[in-house]
Amino acid sequence: MPRDFLNGCKDYYDVIVIGSGLAGMTAANILGRAGHRVLLLEQHYKLGGLATWFRRPGSHIFDISLHGFPAGMLKSCKRYWNEDIASSIVQLKNIRFDNPMFSLTTTFNREDFTRLLTGRFGIEEATVKGFFDTARQMNFYDDQQMTTRELFDKFFPGREDIVRLLMEPITYANGSTLEDPAITYGIVFSNFMAKGVYIYEGGTDDLVAKMQKELTSNGVDYRIRCDVSRIFVGSKGVEGVEVNGRTIRCGNVVSNSNLNATIFNLVGKEKFDSDFVEQAQQVRLNNSSTQVYMAIKEGVEIDESTGDLLFSSTAPLFRTEALLSRDITSRTFSFYYPRTRPHYKRRFAIVSSTNARYEDWADLSEEDYQASKQDLIETTLDALEKYVPAIRDKVDVVEAATPKTFKHYTKHLSGASFGTKFEGLAVSRALPEQVPGLFHAGSVGIIMSGWLGAINYGVIVANDVDQRLGKAQLAAPAPSALPMST
Ligand SMILES: Cc1cc2nc3c(=O)[nH]c(=O)nc-3n(C[C@H](O)[C@H](O)[C@H](O)COP(=O)(O)OP(=O)(O)OC[C@H]3O[C@@H](n4cnc5c(N)ncnc54)[C@H](O)[C@@H]3O)c2cc1C
Repeated sequence: MPRDFLNGCKDYYDVIVIGSGLAGMTAANILGRAGHRVLLLEQHYKLGGLATWFRRPGSHIFDISLHGFPAGMLKSCKRYWNEDIASSIVQLKNIRFDNPMFSLTTTFNREDFTRLLTGRFGIEEATVKGFFDTARQMNFYDDQQMTTRELFDKFFPGREDIVRLLMEPITYANGSTLEDPAITYGIVFSNFMAKGVYIYEGGTDDLVAKMQKELTSNGVDYRIRCDVSRIFVGSKGVEGVEVNGRTIRCGNVVSNSNLNATIFNLVGKEKFDSDFVEQAQQVRLNNSSTQVYMAIKEGVEIDESTGDLLFSSTAPLFRTEALLSRDITSRTFSFYYPRTRPHYKRRFAIVSSTNARYEDWADLSEEDYQASKQDLIETTLDALEKYVPAIRDKVDVVEAATPKTFKHYTKHLSGASFGTKFEGLAVSRALPEQVPGLFHAGSVGIIMSGWLGAINYGVIVANDVDQRLGKAQLAAPAPSALPMST
């Protein structure tokens, strides 16, 4: 008999959350804490979504997306999770850039960037101040016509080196490009500039374990290996979901699954207005990523002066095309020192990340796919040699992930690392107007992605659901559109 991962589940919940990414888990936590009956369903064998990790022999642990987030995580974790989680958030002080235009180290905050821009890059202080203030004042209601490239041209015309300094880390942090609306840049950049780059000390495994504990204490029923295949919608809105062949009824669904997958695969376009469907069809997915995970042999040390985060590139200029190309010229290296997991065995690890296109990997034959992965590993080790000499003698385990890997583990269409482009936000927010009780919380619109964006979006959507539940004091709806529960 296969194990029943839904064993003991009730027939009805106030809210079913589909997906346990940081947005899904946060929404579930807040709604559980507010006293609602919440079921969280995750198709993978662990919670966390892209906030995840894996282990390899030799006591090695790799983090997938624990590279850096803004200080705002402290407040969000304290308010919407707990003090214990918030107290493990610490600053990364050694951010390095190394490219043909400049090599420098920074604490990556406004003060230090002002020092660099005025001193090293020779810009007037008033111009730097004007740029920071403009970026900080951007909000959702701003004119979205101006692109990030135009914003840079306004303050730093002709300065490709400054564009690179300002843009490279943000492209890495949320997948935004020079061609995207400037607001997508301004908000995230200002978030980082407020206080620098932070990380969770203890590792992603520790964070997710603590979140699981908190979910339990707030009465959230969470289940792994539960793949939701359908969201049932009746004449009055959401009625339930189909998961692992069983139907479970609910008054509200918060989908943390990819936005486009939610609309077109889980609900079906016939449940929406044709104008809305057209708008949703225009939503572009964000790009995907490749990563190379390198664990250092026990007893071998890496000096901390190597940096925490290193934005390295051999490309003469910063260009979106070059960042996405299979011919990789830009890599972001994250260095994990034993302080990442102070209570664990003394281990060092390095993760290299690059943006990538799903299409470049999706249709390769198995042989070509494996050869391409090996090539990715070899070229990454070659690039790392400059910063960690004799790296090949030092590594114990090396593995690579591709856009196909990300798709496999998260079900994100085309392995999108940051959900959708900016236009996804309006579509995500409009879902409940189309189908009462249907909500989406998860990476959309660049701003609402990344660890902080995802958590904060989970909070916003949880409040919407809470309001709806408060208003309606829903009784279990008649299961008109539902097949019989199995
Ligand atoms: C390589 C990489 C590096 C990154 N680095 C950083 C970083 O340093 N800092 C940062 O802030 N952000 C980083 N990010 C982005 C960040 O990890 C994500 O934006 C964030 O974790 C996404 O959270 P989410 O809530 O949108 O959901 P996701 O993490 O995307 O999770 C969605 C969940 O839904 C589940 N699911 C989907 N469909 C179903 C279904 N039908 N039934 C059940 N479950 C389903 C999936 O299995 C998954 O668990 C990185 C991302 C990548 C790919």
